[in-house]
Amino acid sequence: MIIHLKSSVTDAEVQKIAIELDAFHIKKPDFHVLVTPSALKEVPAQYENITEASFVFPNDMQLASADYFSETREIDINGVKIGGTNNNTMVIAGPCSVESEEQITQSAELMVEQGISTLRAGCYKPRTSPYSFQGMGLDGLKLLDKMRTKFGLNIITEVRDTTHVDEIIEYADIIQVGAKAMYDQGILRTCGKSRKPILLKRGFGTTLQEFVQAAEFILSAGNDNVILCERGIRTFETKTRFTLDLCGVAYLKEHTNLPIILDPSHAIGYRYGVPDLARACTAMGIEGLLIEVHPDPSVAKSDAAQQLDHAMFRDLLTTLRPIATAVGRTII
Ligand code: PEP
Ligand code: MN
Repeated sequence: MIIHLKSSVTDAEVQKIAIELDAFHIKKPDFHVLVTPSALKEVPAQYENITEASFVFPNDMQLASADYFSETREIDINGVKIGGTNNNTMVIAGPCSVESEEQITQSAELMVEQGISTLRAGCYKPRTSPYSFQGMGLDGLKLLDKMRTKFGLNIITEVRDTTHVDEIIEYADIIQVGAKAMYDQGILRTCGKSRKPILLKRGFGTTLQEFVQAAEFILSAGNDNVILCERGIRTFETKTRFTLDLCGVAYLKEHTNLPIILDPSHAIGYRYGVPDLARACTAMGIEGLLIEVHPDPSVAKSDAAQQLDHAMFRDLLTTLRPIATAVGRTII
């Protein structure tokens, strides 16, 4: 359960209670938040007089639950806002990987041209083969940093493992925790200590309950800025790379307070389907889209088949804007 204790309770007292209740303690300006295991269903009698509010949950989906508060959390990325009352659909776009200064500069220029504020590209790639391109590492991060300074873009890039999580937190404006990394508790706990926005991708074999519980690791460590990303799950179907779980998105919208971003590129795995899926996703009224786009997808070093070229991306945005308007949102 979640218990709000009055701000008059001292830190030392709250910490004692937290140990007693096996709870996480998050300090807010006006009150203390204690998050206990969901098995606790009643505030112990001795703490009733110092309790301001309490919330009971059927399972460990707690801080992320719409029953805790129903409004979607607002995430502010250097002034670019999603969630809350903003009604924005933030397009995050760029190549799968940073490959060279020329490639990432062309990508950044496309974002500026299209009024898109957030450039994506991986530097530490979680490949399924050790013989595939593994990413440019720190050199790639430095190039992203350069793009931020030169073009005023927000940068999102992914963490592959704990060896470089601090490096990513230092360089990125949004930290992406990928589908394969989302079970890594070292990464989740480190992201919880940061206050930067975390884009948490759903693993391709992850239930919605497990997905939200991964978010709870970050939230319970005190980082309120978690965004969920549905990027396709593995099903019996092999014609497409994964299956985009839009039912799951409807569930998360209804039952959680976290902003949701959809990634049609990794879901289908083939560029021909990305524009239709992106339009369908936008029509669902979501906080964002993640689209892979490359200056020349035929030479891309990772995810070549699914990346749009620049002309396709321009066309896509032209069709997305009226769909966003129809559902009361603005593409940013
Ligand atoms: C990516 O965004 O390039 C990526 C590898 O995504 P995922 O973790 O969803 O596979
Ligand atoms: Mn990719």
